[in-house]
Amino acid sequence: MSKKELHFNSKTIHGGQQPDAAYGAVMPPIYQTSTYAQTTPGGHKGYEYSRSANPTRTALENALASIENGNYGLAFASGLSAIDAVIKLLAPGDEVISTNDLYGGSYRLFRQVFEKFGITFHFIGMQDVESIAEKITDKTKLIWVETPTNPMMNVIDIKAVAALAKENKLLLAVDNTFATPYLQRPLDLGADIVMHSATKYLGGHSDVVVGALVVKDKALADKLYFLQNASGAVCGPMDSFLTLRGIKTLHVRMQRHSENGAAIARYLQNHPKIEKVYWPGFEDHPNHDIAKAQMDDFGGMISFIPKGGSFEEAVKIVEALKVFTLAESLGGVESLAGHPASMTHASIPKEEREKSGVVDALIRLSVGIEDSNDLIEDLEQAIG
Ligand SMILES: *Cc1c(COP(=O)(O)O)cnc(C)c1O
Repeated sequence: MSKKELHFNSKTIHGGQQPDAAYGAVMPPIYQTSTYAQTTPGGHKGYEYSRSANPTRTALENALASIENGNYGLAFASGLSAIDAVIKLLAPGDEVISTNDLYGGSYRLFRQVFEKFGITFHFIGMQDVESIAEKITDKTKLIWVETPTNPMMNVIDIKAVAALAKENKLLLAVDNTFATPYLQRPLDLGADIVMHSATKYLGGHSDVVVGALVVKDKALADKLYFLQNASGAVCGPMDSFLTLRGIKTLHVRMQRHSENGAAIARYLQNHPKIEKVYWPGFEDHPNHDIAKAQMDDFGGMISFIPKGGSFEEAVKIVEALKVFTLAESLGGVESLAGHPASMTHASIPKEEREKSGVVDALIRLSVGIEDSNDLIEDLEQAIG
């Protein structure tokens, strides 16, 4: 059986991978080098300079392409630098339609960096695909989707948006950081580009900052490779190695993240001191049917609002947690709690933020892979 036909839970370990050519090392060596000896000008073994390509990065890029069912992977220095490369496909005058409830850093990059260069961004709720269609003009070039959204856990129908994009000859990029390919594979659903903050679940151990893009189309891959090399925000060899190691256990971690996530979402929903829990696994979640259709499980990301809904109450809870760590980021083996309004989403103006539901009392959990009893006990003592 060729490796292309492996199941997902084997692809995380073997997809795009082979023992290193030099000595058969099963894990690719960390090629900690900037340059490569040439026998004659231009006479090299495929590597000239590590901004352009590095063998450890190539190993990661091949693994990324494999797990997302794409043909080409690109590894960047951060998730944001991967997004940066996608927007640089555009030119002044172009327009982008983006999810309104998205990662704060993506919003900041779009509004405060790229708008200066004449690119216009429209931020809208995308649960209703019709609302995207209404925003399309002859200047629209790209639709940027994040699903499930951060931190409100809305789910956007990737297949329906992909059909709309195709009909209007637009690129569709999906930030798949929250779901990972274990839960959802946007390229299979018709997206052109899948993007990751590999800092989160793909790396999985809170020890790297890495970004990724995966595409199917060769011409699009060439343009992105050009931008990756021209702008230079590449993933270093050590970080490539660590991310590759993380990917090998992605399926095992995601299974536990999803189990623990479900246990905690249900615990919170039944808690008398909790007002509202946002988790796409609930049957009464407004996008539950789409979530069920396009995701294989619901993951470990949950947001909630304590009863009374005050800033003070939310802060009191996150400060009292002992097993959950109060920290930015998500997707690591350890459970984290965050307060979006003052942390991850502080760069979005309060008025904009609250329009999409990111109120001062909202708490976001990245449920780790610890024993769920310990996590529930911790929440119990913190909520009081
Ligand atoms: C963290 C994150 C990013 C940004 O990635 P970095 O690796 O921090 O640059 C983008 N999108 C989502 C959904 C994220 O969680």
